[in-house]
Amino acid sequence: MLAAVLEELGRLELRELPEPEIDDDSALLRVEAVSICGSDVRILHHGNPRVKPPAIIGHEAAGVVVKVGKNVTRVKEGDRVAIGADVPCGQCRWCRNGLGNNCAINYAVGYQIPGAFAQYMKLPKLLLDEGPVTRIPDSMDFETAALAEPLACAINGMELVNMGLGKSVVIIGLGPIGCMLIDLARAMGASKVIAVQRSKARLELARFYGADVYICSEEEDVVARCVEETGGEGPDIVITASASVEAHEQAIEMVAHRGYVNLFGGLPKGTRPMSVYSNTIHYKECFVTGSHGSVPRHHELAVHLLAQGRVRVAPLITHRFPLSQIHRAFEVMQNREGMKVMVLPHA
Ligand SMILES: [Zn+2]
Ligand SMILES: [Zn+2]
Repeated sequence: MLAAVLEELGRLELRELPEPEIDDDSALLRVEAVSICGSDVRILHHGNPRVKPPAIIGHEAAGVVVKVGKNVTRVKEGDRVAIGADVPCGQCRWCRNGLGNNCAINYAVGYQIPGAFAQYMKLPKLLLDEGPVTRIPDSMDFETAALAEPLACAINGMELVNMGLGKSVVIIGLGPIGCMLIDLARAMGASKVIAVQRSKARLELARFYGADVYICSEEEDVVARCVEETGGEGPDIVITASASVEAHEQAIEMVAHRGYVNLFGGLPKGTRPMSVYSNTIHYKECFVTGSHGSVPRHHELAVHLLAQGRVRVAPLITHRFPLSQIHRAFEVMQNREGMKVMVLPHA
């Protein structure tokens, strides 16, 4: 099979490898679609302690189960499935309590578990026992299914901000996650969704999602405008889906009393610490939360929402490449030329 192997930092090589061997407790997935995550680009250039080259990365995937070991009950031959990233160990306090994305080991597909930038991928026992492996309906295409992984992370973020009917929501950063959050906020009953983005080009792409207000943060005072758009009170919920420490600060500054902030976007190593007056949090009685990754329950919910069309992802897919052109695919991601870049291993 053809696979893209991370040989060392910064070097991804196309290799002809034998298909992974399946034992009695594992299954084989024919990978039909896998999208490139921002974290894949970071792993390629900066590495990750959980990725030991030579390694196959890629975790936003979907495909068909083509071989099944005799002890496997979770999937059967012919199943069309979406695969997520975080795999709970099943043993620790966090995993036993449904919080596997907080697991200290933090097993993940495309990290310790060989990933999906390949024509075939082994679904090992731990992934089948504990991980995000979700059957998809016949009506769902594989590209949509692959994006259940990032959507699962967005759902995790939404669960941590006490979202509910009638809330006003500000989303800062309109990349793929920010756009999914617009649809999610609506699906969860938002009264007003305010979308904030620095670059004009991305803001225009995100117009499809029909937020109530779009703000270009290069041209306007974001905090003042968001407060004005919420009747002078500030938004009930602010989620920062951008790798910007300024966005984190603005979020806390603008949020309403008793409001919720979710610092969704991680920041590059070496970013200066966030600077906020703790009295702002003190007097507002606001809640500042963080979120990263997801658990299998979120992945199932993501597939469900995608199947219902409550969250739309097709407009986010701006580029498609066969696996043989994976270098070009990573370039497009690095240059931020598009939104979601899809790799099709059998195209
Ligand atoms: Zn991802
Ligand atoms: Zn664990």
